Amino acid sequence: MSTYRITAIEDVLERSPKAPETPSRKISEYYGDHAFTLSAMREYLTEEAYDHVVAATQDGIRIDRKIADQVASSLKEWAMARGATHYTHWFQPLTGSTAEKHDSFIQPDGRGGAIERFDGSLLVQQEPDASSFPNGGIRSTFEARGYTLWDPSSAPFIMGTTLCIPTIFIAYTGQSLDNKAPLLKALAAVDKAATNVCQYFDKNVTKVVATLGWEQEYFLVDKALYNARPDLSQSGRALLGAAPAKGQQLDDNYFGSIPPRVMAFMQDFECEAHKLGIPVTTRHNEVAPNQFEVAPVFEEANVANDHNLLLMELLETVSIRHDFRVLVHEKPFAGLNGSGKHNNWSLGTNTGVNLLKPGTNPKTNLRFLTFFVNTIAAIHRHADVLRAAIASAGNDHRLGANEAPPAIISAFIGSKLTELLDAVEENVSAGKMSPDEKTAVKLEIGRIPEVLLDNTDRNRTSPFAFTGNKFEFRAVGSAANCAVPMTVLNTIMAEQLNMFKEAVDARIAGGDKKDEALLKEIQKLIKESKTIRFEGNGYGQEWVDEAAKRGLSNLLDTPSALAVWDRKEVVELFNGMGVLTAEEIAARTEVELENYVMKLQIEARVLGDMVTNQVLPAVLDYQSDLLANIQGFMDVFGDNQADAMTVAQRGLLEDLSAGVSATYDLLNKLRTERSKMNELDDAHAVAKGYAEVVKPLMEECRIQVDQLEKLTEDSRWPFPKLRELLFTR
Ligand code: ADP
Ligand code: MG
Repeated sequence: MSTYRITAIEDVLERSPKAPETPSRKISEYYGDHAFTLSAMREYLTEEAYDHVVAATQDGIRIDRKIADQVASSLKEWAMARGATHYTHWFQPLTGSTAEKHDSFIQPDGRGGAIERFDGSLLVQQEPDASSFPNGGIRSTFEARGYTLWDPSSAPFIMGTTLCIPTIFIAYTGQSLDNKAPLLKALAAVDKAATNVCQYFDKNVTKVVATLGWEQEYFLVDKALYNARPDLSQSGRALLGAAPAKGQQLDDNYFGSIPPRVMAFMQDFECEAHKLGIPVTTRHNEVAPNQFEVAPVFEEANVANDHNLLLMELLETVSIRHDFRVLVHEKPFAGLNGSGKHNNWSLGTNTGVNLLKPGTNPKTNLRFLTFFVNTIAAIHRHADVLRAAIASAGNDHRLGANEAPPAIISAFIGSKLTELLDAVEENVSAGKMSPDEKTAVKLEIGRIPEVLLDNTDRNRTSPFAFTGNKFEFRAVGSAANCAVPMTVLNTIMAEQLNMFKEAVDARIAGGDKKDEALLKEIQKLIKESKTIRFEGNGYGQEWVDEAAKRGLSNLLDTPSALAVWDRKEVVELFNGMGVLTAEEIAARTEVELENYVMKLQIEARVLGDMVTNQVLPAVLDYQSDLLANIQGFMDVFGDNQADAMTVAQRGLLEDLSAGVSATYDLLNKLRTERSKMNELDDAHAVAKGYAEVVKPLMEECRIQVDQLEKLTEDSRWPFPKLRELLFTR
């Protein structure tokens, strides 16, 4: 009898929902109370300091030391009033998650007492002992210094009793060692490029921000069951487990009623999120059992991304209070839907315009068309970089698995906008446009708002879909830091807009009227980027074939996807836009490859342990009982009669032994192959080996073990089965 499993299930059955501590106050009364937001700043800062910080946030102006001291002292006062005793620079190392090192405000006063101290220098910069964060060789150990620097555009916040200050993380030599610094650079690049293009339409536009609205999917499993599964606790996903008879085939979970225990958890973390000023609004069941989603109102991309990372932390900490564990892995359960993190993205101006929202007249619609077509052109030009930006060991299980978008990047825009682009393509003539032609095109463009209303034919299979007033990048993995895809998307958009501006200006210099120059350039982009547009079913084999004919990439694993960072033109692009240097790109790629290998290595080890220490002993035990049973028959009835009476036992024994042998063989092979891989010294070759040899062996091994699970007497099975993980509530 497997005590682990049985005790865990008993624990779950005894649980009842913890009543959430629903604050008696309205959300609006505590919303943002734990974040040093603009309104907190207005209350705590002098007018001079406030104006300075706002300007720094909006225009990237450096904050001088005097102001920093003022901000620090107000921040300390504000934080201590809310119970904070420590502070930390909160940053996003290349591990993909966040890091913090807490320091107390306390300083001994030299007379046996202490004072609380926090000044500008501590706010602005810290020097964490950073040698143990991944750096891809940028810092050799003898020069291991790294700095965290305050990002004034994201509000400091309080977690528990710690004041957290969002920061970037750079090496002594200035290179970025994190995911935030490149994002900020990409956002600055797209701001500049988009503002320039906006000048064609409105001289009042002086700033453009990228907006991000993420949708976070996750699974919940009971804490006791989670703890009884080494694979979940060590690798975040079930490496073994036969599919439950009932999975998601009845489609009875999506938008279904939320179980009370889960509801209590959701209310609790939403309350925490609201205190931090994270505008979460949406919650619902997802497609798979025990799968859920949370989404906020969109925000400026850097803030939205910090909020997503914070929310992932909250999910983790609050889930434990409710005896749950949260799984943000992209594919925790084979055979069930995986989890993604849709990135809804657009560009907004300081004049309050969403540049991807169709306007109300031909002029504003020409602006819409400009940004819309440029986005498609950017995706077309750099589909492979976008693919690389979402590559991870976890997401490899999801992309192309017929529930998530395929690994082929394409853009869906709906039939009405397709018609519009076709019309522009056909009606803008190469030479000087006649008044009639202009009227015809303007008429088409004028029709946009009306046509968009019925543009509801959402295509769930597209990785990059236009959804009325924004694009939705659906291929991002649930565990990802959105900063990575957002850095890429905004950089390629910035480059595209710069090229567009240059081309249009050249046409105007050549004698074209502005509208005509814009239309001709738009037409050119429509033609050039046509192959990236796909409106059909992204799940079918037909699309794989069709995409190959169109010359689109289908990069199925992380090592293949990451290879794009070796391309000269890609390095030049990111370097040229001031987002990442060649050295930073090389370092990041190495870190990503290492992460990939380590994830698979951990999985392979956990699998080996579970099979050797738990599965095989359980099955061998069961075999012994069957053998004893047969022996018993022989003792009582004699060999001849017993033979006929023990057909089932013998059959089972044969199947079990075959499974045990096959499993044992595969485990040995897995071990041998891994040692071979580890001998290779090229990071890319190791990763490729893990993708092509180790991963398939693990999958084969799982098939054998899952078969053994089905054959073995239930109470002996050493860890919770998938049906228990997903359906015991
Ligand atoms: P769904 O995709 O679930 O049907 P919506 O289309 O209403 O829901 O919005 C999905 C997400 O898109 C939300 O998180 C929302 O904040 C975000 N969103 C809406 N407008 C924008 C925008 N202009 N920029 C970025 N994200 C946006
Ligand atoms: Mg959506």
